[in-house]
Amino acid sequence: METFTVPFAIGDVKWLPAHQPRKVEVPCPVCFGNLFVIVTLGNGEEFAVQCEGCGLGFNGPQGTIQQYQYEPSAIHFEIARVESMHDTRWRVSSVTGGSANYNELVETEEEALAISRQKCADQQEDNMRSLQRTRAGAQRLTWSVRYHNDKIADLERQLEWHLAKAQKRTRNAQR
Ligand SMILES: [Zn+2]
Repeated sequence: METFTVPFAIGDVKWLPAHQPRKVEVPCPVCFGNLFVIVTLGNGEEFAVQCEGCGLGFNGPQGTIQQYQYEPSAIHFEIARVESMHDTRWRVSSVTGGSANYNELVETEEEALAISRQKCADQQEDNMRSLQRTRAGAQRLTWSVRYHNDKIADLERQLEWHLAKAQKRTRNAQR
C-alpha cells in the first residue's frame, strides 16, 4: 500500500505572494505616442516614417506597447480543500476561492511580500529589456526610408510615364 504524508491541514493559514501580473499599455518607447518618427538622412533630408516600435501588428502603429506589471502584495490564504495532487505537488483552494500550488505558500505575510517584491523587480527588469529590444528593432527604420523612397521614385516615374501617355492622347483628341 502506498502511503504519503499530507504536509498541511485543512484550515491552515498561509500567505501567497501575488503573482498575477496584469497587462498594461505604456507609451511607445520609440515614437512616444506620435505614431511617426523623423528620420534624417545623411544629406539632411527628413522623413516622417510610421513607427515600427509599436507598429509591428496588423493595425499599424498604436502609440503604445503592452507590458506586464503588478503591485507587490501578499494574499491571506486559508486552506479550504485539496484540488489535486500530482508527484507530491499539491494544489489547494482557499476559503475565499483562491487557488495555489502548496509549495508557493509561505508562513508569514512578510515572507510573501518579500517574494512578491522580488518578482516585481524581476518583471520590471524584463520590461526594461523589452523596451531596449523595441528600440533596437526600430533601427530598421532607415531601411524602411530607403525602401519607401525607392518605391516612391519608382511610382513617380510610372506616373510621369502614364501622364505623358494620357496627355498625348488628350491633345490628339482635341485636334
Ligand atoms: Zn511607436
